[in-house]
Amino acid sequence: MKKEIVLSGMRPTGTLHLGNYFGALKRWSEVQSDHDCYWMVADLHSLTTLESTADIEKTTLEMTTLWLAAGLDPERSTIFLQSAVPEHGELNAIFATLLPTSMLELNPTYKEMTAEHPKSGSFGILNYPVLQAADILLYKASRVPVGRDQEPHIEITREIARRFNNKFGEFFAEPHALFSETPKIYSLTEPEKKMSKSGRPDSYIGLLDDEKIVREKIKGAITDSGSEIVYDPEQKPALAHLIDLLHLSSGKPIENVVSEHGGAGYASFKTALAESVSAMLIPIQERFRSYKPADVKNILADGTAKARAVAQKNLGDIKEKIGLLNLK
Ligand code: ADP
Repeated sequence: MKKEIVLSGMRPTGTLHLGNYFGALKRWSEVQSDHDCYWMVADLHSLTTLESTADIEKTTLEMTTLWLAAGLDPERSTIFLQSAVPEHGELNAIFATLLPTSMLELNPTYKEMTAEHPKSGSFGILNYPVLQAADILLYKASRVPVGRDQEPHIEITREIARRFNNKFGEFFAEPHALFSETPKIYSLTEPEKKMSKSGRPDSYIGLLDDEKIVREKIKGAITDSGSEIVYDPEQKPALAHLIDLLHLSSGKPIENVVSEHGGAGYASFKTALAESVSAMLIPIQERFRSYKPADVKNILADGTAKARAVAQKNLGDIKEKIGLLNLK
C-alpha cells in the first residue's frame, strides 16, 4: 500500500526548544516508520523575521544536526533545504493568485508576527501561509505534523487546495494537521503564552541547555499559589504545564507524577522536573556533538536532490493541469 505523504518544516532562526520538540520534532521521528516523510529546513521562511542573516548558515546546520540527534533518520525520511528547491517559489507564484489579500490579513499569525517584529512588516509575512501551502502541496502531502499555533496556516493550505481544484479541476487532496499529544507547550515565565524562541531566554528550555541552566530556568518558572502539587489546568494552569513537562520528559502518566510528588511541595517537584528534562536532553546533546558539519551538509544535499526530483515532477503535473504551454 502507498504510504501517506507527510511534510513539515522549521525555521532555522535560533536554537530549538521543548515546544518545538514536544509539539513537532518528537512526533516527526515517530511517524517516520510508516509514512513517506519530508522534513524541510524552512530557511526562506526565516527571512521573514530575521533582522540579520549573518548566522543563517550556522543555524541551518545546527538545526539539521539537532533533528538528526533527536531521531530523524535520513534513511527513512527526506531531509531537505527549502531554498535549494526553486519549485517552492514557482508554486508560491501560482498559489498567490488564488486568495484575496483580505483573507491573509485576517490570519491571526500575521497579526502576531507583525506585532512581534514591527520593523519587518513585509509582504513576506503576509505571504508566509501561501509559501507554506506551496511547501506542503508541492509534495502532495496529506498530513502535516505541527504545533497548535500552526492551525490557521493549515486551514489556509486547505483553502488554497480547494480553490485550485475548483478552478483547474480536482488535483490536490486537502491536507490535515497532525497534532502531538500536547500540541502547545507554554512559556515558563508567561504561562499564558506559548514557549517561543522569540521570548526571554529564561522563558524556554533550549534543546542544547546544560543541566545547570535547565535547573535554573525551572527553578525560576512561574507556579500558581499554594504549595500542593495538583493537576488542575483550569485553576492552576502554570503548575499543570510543569506537570505536563514532567509527564512528557519522563514518560510517566500524569496520575503517577501527581501521586509521586503530591505532598512534597514545589521545590522538590521542580528538582525532579529539572532532572527528568536533563535526563531526556543529555543523550540528544551527546548525539548532537558526535556529528561533523560536513556530514550533516551531505545528508542535507542528498535529501535536497531527492526532494527536488519529486518537486520538479509534481510542478510539471500542476502546470499541465492549469494548461500552461509546455515547451518540451
Ligand atoms: P518558533 O515559534 O519558536 O519560531 P517555529 O515557528 O520554527 O518556532 O515552529 C517550528 C515547529 O514547532 C512548528 O510545528 C510549531 O508549531 C512548533 N512549535 C513551536 N513552538 C511551539 C510550542 N510552544 N508548543 C508546541 N509546538 C510548538
